[in-house]
Amino acid sequence: MSQATPPLQPIQPLLANAAIMEAVSRQNYPAATLYVVATPIGNVCDISLRALHLLALADAVACEDTRNTAQLMTRYGLHKPLIAAHQHNEREVADKIIARLQAGERIALVSDAGTPGVSDPGAKIVDAVRQAGLQVSPLPGASAAISALSASGLIHDQFHFIGFLPAKAGQRDTLLQGLTSVAATMIFYEAPHRIIDSTQAMLTAFGAERPVVFARELTKLFEEIHRCTLGEAQAWLTADSHREKGEYVVLIQGAASAASDDQLEARRILSILLNECSVKQAASLAAQITGQKKNALYELALALKSAQE
Ligand code: SAM
Repeated sequence: MSQATPPLQPIQPLLANAAIMEAVSRQNYPAATLYVVATPIGNVCDISLRALHLLALADAVACEDTRNTAQLMTRYGLHKPLIAAHQHNEREVADKIIARLQAGERIALVSDAGTPGVSDPGAKIVDAVRQAGLQVSPLPGASAAISALSASGLIHDQFHFIGFLPAKAGQRDTLLQGLTSVAATMIFYEAPHRIIDSTQAMLTAFGAERPVVFARELTKLFEEIHRCTLGEAQAWLTADSHREKGEYVVLIQGAASAASDDQLEARRILSILLNECSVKQAASLAAQITGQKKNALYELALALKSAQE
């Protein structure tokens, strides 16, 4: 299979196409409105024509990191006053934004990458603006979660977005235990320095057979999307040292299609018992509680125990 990059599509005529640019600007962009604008998650070209039009129209841009946003805007020849709006000042900055909106301005809200408010600052500002009776309008675009889901190959009628797991191991494990019987595809964000530990914790919670998809460095030069079982995941992650770097979305197949209710219940009970007693005792007690075969439970307990270690 050829790895050659296909020639660039001629997008210049598109931008010069008066009918398309007219369609971009024809939409109503009322004043006194906060516009929530999605920005690229890697490839700088993943921004919509409408988003660029709105950034050009805005009186100011509220952003998570003024340096990042200035860089993005400069790429597109845009220069606007920037308002720092990060997780430590969202409530205070909301008051300033509300005052400017009340004066009739259009303010754009962006985060460093992707859709604001999705595991990113922005939701508190949107809440305050709406509570003040002002309009909020989305300019849709990239989000790592939806991009990863769309290319995962996991069959999903429903998905459950979790975002980042807690940094503390105890809280992380409790949260994962509570997700073992979720039927929908689960979507996690994870930092590269935690990917190995988090995947190990997922193995303990969901079991070795559960399908997982790693979506790494989406839309970037070294994009990888890999599907395997949780039992195979550590081998894939450690096979290449680059995999301990980069940005990850981790998707776990939902319980409904991955295991029966009986298997899930056995796993849940064994996980609790293994904190208090030996593998043999845990299997024996679980057999009495569930009525399932002791041998199979013993094998499962062994796998859970070794995953915990
Ligand atoms: N609001 C953003 C969105 O809608 O995608 C997410 C922001 S959150 C702070 C950043 C996390 O999103 C990263 O740690 C990673 O888990 C995920 N992410 C962002 N860009 C990514 C990419 N290009 N490839 C894979 N994951 C990405």
